[in-house]
Amino acid sequence: EKVFSGFSKTRNNLSVIDELLLYWNLSDTDKVLDELEEALLVSDFGPKITIKIVENLREDILSGKLKSGSEIKEALKRNVLDLLSNKGSKTELKLGFRKPAVIMIVGVNGGGKTTSLGKLAYRLKNGGAKILLAAGDTFRAAASDQLEIWAERTGCEIVMAETEKAKASVVLSQAVKRGKQEGYDIVLCDTSGRLHTNYRLMEELISCKKAVAKVVAGAPNEILLVLDGTTGLNMLPQAREFNEVVGVTGLILTKLDGSARGGCVVSVVDELGIPVKFVGVGEGVEDLQPFDAEAFVNAIFT
Ligand code: GDP
Repeated sequence: EKVFSGFSKTRNNLSVIDELLLYWNLSDTDKVLDELEEALLVSDFGPKITIKIVENLREDILSGKLKSGSEIKEALKRNVLDLLSNKGSKTELKLGFRKPAVIMIVGVNGGGKTTSLGKLAYRLKNGGAKILLAAGDTFRAAASDQLEIWAERTGCEIVMAETEKAKASVVLSQAVKRGKQEGYDIVLCDTSGRLHTNYRLMEELISCKKAVAKVVAGAPNEILLVLDGTTGLNMLPQAREFNEVVGVTGLILTKLDGSARGGCVVSVVDELGIPVKFVGVGEGVEDLQPFDAEAFVNAIFT
């Protein structure tokens, strides 16, 4: 299973309680829960969720609801799954009925925005959709070149800036117009990850949003925020800001094949109330997977 191959460390951390649970009796409760608390914190679940899970379990143990080590383990997994499912279960893309559907990909540079866009194009094209790419990161010259490589790799057409000074909103508007005229199903829009100031970046994203809405009512249908899984809990303030300004509809967590700690997936979903739609598990075209909460829980708990 490649999907969550990167979580072996998280799995190891969380498995420290397994032996304790094997020979569990009521008098071990504090010791088990202390160990669990530490393991959850080390795995980036964050203090809020960690306390919530540990206290839930304590209550159910002390009230006699959980009567064995294996029941405690199952309850632990169910707690994590519930946290994800309450807010993060709607993983399919909402593309509406108007053509073309527009998906904007946002996030800071280096997080895996362009790579994820390329992988998503590959995935959607394989599903039978006619895909157009839009190089909306006009701030960084190399970004368009990088997207052009993905266009070649996936066999998709691409719309790029005609001049060096072209505004991102103009490029995206042109792309969506072309998408409409030429019968494309989906336009995938890359955006900038850094301008002189955060304020300018957010202003630009807002004007991109408005520009595409002028061409197709209801667009953009999805605004997917790309977050680097290896940054762990540090991704939270950044995610909050993007969400407040542009209204994120889904998350793509990247680099989960690397040193990402599993708990950050749960913290970001709980904190933002936005579903994880895809996870990045490598650099190849096929390394973007729809997020499967149950598979994730089974991957971090043995
Ligand atoms: P952008 O600046 O946000 O557009 O980021 P890029 O798409 O250029 O990605 C930055 C680096 O992260 C590149 O070297 C990518 O190959 C790498 N990368 C992106 N996604 C993943 C992933 O899921 N797994 C791994 N291992 N590397 C990734």
